[in-house]
Amino acid sequence: MIRMMQIVAGLLLLFMLWLLAPGGGVPILAYHQVGSLPEIYSVDAAEFEEQMQYLAEHGYTAISLAELFAAGPGELPAKPVIIAFDDGYEDNYSAALPILEKYGLKGTVFVIAGQVGQPDYMTWEQLKDMQARNMEIGSHTYSHVALDELSPEEQLSELVRSKELLEANLGKPVQFLAYPYGRYNAATLTALKQAGYTAACTGLPGLGTTGGDVYQLKRVNVPRPKFGLWEFRLRLLRAQIYGKLSSLQ
Ligand SMILES: [Zn+2]
Repeated sequence: MIRMMQIVAGLLLLFMLWLLAPGGGVPILAYHQVGSLPEIYSVDAAEFEEQMQYLAEHGYTAISLAELFAAGPGELPAKPVIIAFDDGYEDNYSAALPILEKYGLKGTVFVIAGQVGQPDYMTWEQLKDMQARNMEIGSHTYSHVALDELSPEEQLSELVRSKELLEANLGKPVQFLAYPYGRYNAATLTALKQAGYTAACTGLPGLGTTGGDVYQLKRVNVPRPKFGLWEFRLRLLRAQIYGKLSSLQ
């Protein structure tokens, strides 16, 4: 009986070690605003800094989505992370970028193309400067509509129009998209391919992988924390466990 329990305990331990070992994909963090607004999608700058410091001190290397998709087997750093921001708020430039640079990190901003230069959103000049400072710019559609509520033609137009506008102003190919409200349907996936996107990010929890459906990448949502850095660490851990378990399928 005791021998049996030892075997079960041993197997459980092996399973835990496997769950926590690297693999299963890359965490793609999803932020929105970085500022002092008491809103769920606005992470306080001091807390954002604490999170970035945690990543830097725990051996994470920030990579871009382009680097993730260009990497061959074994080419990614030991603990890769993608730090992404949705919407293109001005505080991504004024508050988040200096913190990222301070810790030797970089990120990806999914911009609502039709909002550039509007109050609270980044200008083209700021986006150009971000890009020059190693940040990756992706699309968050032209007008931030729930894509699954549009016809296939309207969806294609949102995807193409935002891509072309960003490329014309920033002079670099736009390969990646994040779905507004995490909403999409089968027609969206067809339209993404037609519009020439390499991959797209959902709001579903887990890790990003290049092996599965590249238009349904999972992310680690990071809202304003209620429990400080522990919450951030738990979110990373949860994504790791989801990622590992879904790698079994
Ligand atoms: Zn959004």
